[in-house]
Amino acid sequence: MSVVPHAVVELRGVSKVYPATAKGGLPVVAIDDVSLTIEAGDVYGIIGYSGAGKSTLVRLVNALELSTSGQILVNGTSITGLSERELRPVRAGIGMIFQQFNLLNSRTVAANVAYPLEVARVPKAERTARVAELLEFVGLGDKAKAYPDQLSGGQKQRVGIARALATSPSILLADEATSALDPETTHEVLTLLKRINQEFGVTIIVITHEMDVIQTIATKVAVMDQGRVIERGDVFDVFSNPQHAASARFVSTVVKGVPSAAELETLQARHAGRIVTLTFRDEAVDQTAVFGELTRAQVAFEVVYGGIHEIQGRPFGHLTLSLLADDAVVDSALTRIRTLTTVTEVR
Ligand code: ADP
Repeated sequence: MSVVPHAVVELRGVSKVYPATAKGGLPVVAIDDVSLTIEAGDVYGIIGYSGAGKSTLVRLVNALELSTSGQILVNGTSITGLSERELRPVRAGIGMIFQQFNLLNSRTVAANVAYPLEVARVPKAERTARVAELLEFVGLGDKAKAYPDQLSGGQKQRVGIARALATSPSILLADEATSALDPETTHEVLTLLKRINQEFGVTIIVITHEMDVIQTIATKVAVMDQGRVIERGDVFDVFSNPQHAASARFVSTVVKGVPSAAELETLQARHAGRIVTLTFRDEAVDQTAVFGELTRAQVAFEVVYGGIHEIQGRPFGHLTLSLLADDAVVDSALTRIRTLTTVTEVR
């Protein structure tokens, strides 16, 4: 489904300050002057360590909490200062899924999914049909009468997703939705979220502390640190060229391309040649041309570390080589290679 781009969530200079909890304590600035635009059809990842302000941001977007200053627009409507009654339709347009699933254990799977429809006073027949359709969509058509306790974590999250979609929201907020799941189940749930984005055009905001979740599903990412957005952009750009140390740390959890100082020492001890790291970013860097230079200069080479990743369908990675030839020959080959890509050498 194609979506005409327009801002579905917009934060303009938003701050949230919690008053000091203990006497003499300091107020906590949970969100510090954040401006962010999330467009229709985005899968927008928000990543940060624990305490960065991610959950607070989510609670501000669905108006569970009020910002201290700034403005928040959802589908073009400013939600700042709306009454509870005015907020109801805004909230109905936002589905949520949670780390701990938040299912009602006394209700069957079908009754859990039906719950938001009951709240919205959807007639019974319509409700039943919609629940059946949703359970089918998430692959749980045969679990309608089961209770949450009888399901695996991945199945519980799929119930959570069906419930979140019940009222056909245009936005889905996923708050650490895969953090309690094993890697394989995580992948299943992320694949399902991707389908929801692509088939229904639902804008998805993924809150996570795991960079591989961002790599798997997000098209855009904002990195949060101490209440601020320190970096944002297309996932490929942030992964291949992070601008902040904190972003680089997140990226290094999934892109393990550059040897650490200790690893470099081991490589140098093991290989007689000069150790250099080449960066391959997108089709812009032609591997054939790079290796062609080495072959032409008769530099013997061996790939000793690194790899090429596929990020948003584009290649990116680092390859560390051991280069064996006279120093002057290696130098002149590297000079030519530097015109093609970034070369890092620690000597
Ligand atoms: P994250 O989701 O990234 O882990 P949070 O949004 O939960 O971060 O928290 C951001 C900061 O705000 C933290 O310092 C946290 O202790 C503080 N905080 C969150 N909620 C409250 C609250 N209700 N009262 C006081 N401080 C809070």
